[in-house]
Amino acid sequence: MRDVEWGLDPELIEHVDMSTLAVRAGGKRSAEGEHSEALFMTSSFVYASAEEAARRFSGAEPGNIYSRFTNPTVAMFERRLAAMEGAERCVATSSGMAAILAMCLALLSQGDEVVVSRSVFGTTRVLFDKYLAKLGICTHWVDLADVRDWERAVTAKTRLFFLESPSNPLGEVADIAALAALAHQHAALLAVDNCLCTPVLQRPLQLGADLVIHSATKFIDGQGRALGGAVLGSQKLMDEVFGYIRTCGASMSPFNAWIFLKGLETLPLRIQAQSAAALSLARWLVQQPQIEQVFYGGLEQHPHHERAAHQQSAFAPLLSFVVHGGREAAWRFIDHTRIFSITGNLGDTKSTITHPATTTHGRLSEADKQASGIVEGLIRLSVGLESVDDLQADLARALASL
Ligand SMILES: *Cc1c(COP(=O)(O)O)cnc(C)c1O
Repeated sequence: MRDVEWGLDPELIEHVDMSTLAVRAGGKRSAEGEHSEALFMTSSFVYASAEEAARRFSGAEPGNIYSRFTNPTVAMFERRLAAMEGAERCVATSSGMAAILAMCLALLSQGDEVVVSRSVFGTTRVLFDKYLAKLGICTHWVDLADVRDWERAVTAKTRLFFLESPSNPLGEVADIAALAALAHQHAALLAVDNCLCTPVLQRPLQLGADLVIHSATKFIDGQGRALGGAVLGSQKLMDEVFGYIRTCGASMSPFNAWIFLKGLETLPLRIQAQSAAALSLARWLVQQPQIEQVFYGGLEQHPHHERAAHQQSAFAPLLSFVVHGGREAAWRFIDHTRIFSITGNLGDTKSTITHPATTTHGRLSEADKQASGIVEGLIRLSVGLESVDDLQADLARALASL
């Protein structure tokens, strides 16, 4: 007789490929024997007796109490993503920003210092500079790719390094193993926002990082439907993060977890196809005379190509380029595409086109834009699953308008 409780026998998790984990890991069946993961749309759970309730609440007996703490659908998502990242444990959150905040508030205290890459998501910069600063947590901003810059920023109070690699939108790449070693030398933790590569292309914990952050809103959903996030790492660190989430309430909705479980199933296929399409478009774009520069880690001429090729199994499906003629030309280019969606989102099966200087990075000061390479002629593409020929024709149409 087969034991059908688990979607994948937990003993097999260490021995199967990423695609198998993506489809099956963490799935757990109810007594109904459903094949597809069940959606437990319930806020609370009941007990057979007052005594059982007391045992659950005291922690003497494991089990669900309330969906702000645990929910079976959310737990399936957490186990699946943990298996894919090679983490002991995952804590799901209501958004990617909630994941970063939960990690910081669970692990940092007033007076601690953090070192953060200047090339992080715009809202992440605001979180550190405005809200964490208010709590007495001081941030030093450094160059993602320059290990010596990180070293110079370390003080006796440094507790955390935080970065995104590759960066959005310029595709700069950090040496994750070197930064993990540096952080550990100073008794600090290294956290990597792995939103753009996902575990399919890069596994930061294997490279020495202590924590991985995700915005599930992007490639994990992949179809632009739901907001969610996750923090992953050791059991010990995640116990702290879980304690914060169940107390402060930024828990993932079971409905969103159910969507993300389905998203994970196709993630390896989607990201490989989107990555191949992005490389093909980048190779075509560099040949176009109206384009000043293309930023894509998959191109040999990108300054971090070697490092990306060593650290990642392929290149994230996000690329950017600068058109001659500044903002006016960039806006004209964007307005003349007919397939790409004009939106700030990324990671979707639908390709998107963005003008970072006036949208995603619009809140940066002029000096910060300069330092981060966010020039007025810069355009970002997140490459989806449409035919690459149709996408190229759309870009050619836009180029012809310049
Ligand atoms: C979108 C994004 C976030 C924030 O995620 P939300 O789910 O929108 O809160 C964090 N990091 C990166 C790299 C992102 O792209």
